[in-house]
Amino acid sequence: MTQKVALVTGAARGIGLATTALFIEQGWLVAMVDRDGDELKVAVKQFNQARPYEFDVSRPDDVDQMMEAVLADFGRVDAVVNNAGVADFRPLEQTSFADWRRIMETNLDGVFLVSQAATPALRKTKGALVNIASISGLRGSTLRVAYGTSKAAVIHLTKQQAAELGEHGIRANCVCPGPVRTKLAMAVHSPEIIAAYHDTIPLNRYGSERELAEVITFLCSEKASYVTGQVIAADGGFESTGVGLP
Ligand code: NAD
Repeated sequence: MTQKVALVTGAARGIGLATTALFIEQGWLVAMVDRDGDELKVAVKQFNQARPYEFDVSRPDDVDQMMEAVLADFGRVDAVVNNAGVADFRPLEQTSFADWRRIMETNLDGVFLVSQAATPALRKTKGALVNIASISGLRGSTLRVAYGTSKAAVIHLTKQQAAELGEHGIRANCVCPGPVRTKLAMAVHSPEIIAAYHDTIPLNRYGSERELAEVITFLCSEKASYVTGQVIAADGGFESTGVGLP
């Protein structure tokens, strides 16, 4: 049987690394994409069924070269997980245009570029796109003008992709993680934010990378063959409470 191939961006650590590991447990091959070459080199050593691609998803030339390299190595792509992301928690008046662009370039432009570059390959396999947004894209907050806006745009981009690509058999879904103790989150979650999350999340805890990976790989699998255009919060119930983001 032909092994399926997943392309995971931001795969060197955090949720992307856990997603890579779970795909491999499920028998897939994985193209691990990350701009942090050092971390990627270490991460890929754990796996026999993965290859590293050191590229920046916010740069059109990088994305073209990345797709060319992945297709030359694997010959197909069955799923793309647009997971690479950066965070910056600041209010509007303290966000420079450079801060804004830095967040948009990876979180939004990167999803657009990688999805567009992968679409011809996904048409051939009737593959799946999973875009990683955030609960920060579902609610306003006092701190996340760039991050929250970028993630809200990713949610809409997913709906556009589902509407447009369904006729080619391509499914597109979006996962909105709640808080997970990764390098990205720990750089922006103050002790007050951590305490507030513990109080307001119905399950009273942060999620794990593995819990996110389970949802992501499900959406890429045949088990989700009639699921497209959906926005799924994996957040311990936070989104269901209606309280403000800490
Ligand atoms: P992380 O920082 O642990 O991992 C992100 C990876 O993406 C890193 O390896 C980084 O080098 C890579 N990356 C960043 N910009 C890139 C670029 N332009 N090109 C290629 N690679 C790039 O973060 P994480 O927490 O695992 O985040 C994964 C995704 O989940 C992100 O989209 C993030 O916004 C989202 N998310 C995370 C949380 C959380 O609490 N951790 C919550 C909501 C959403």
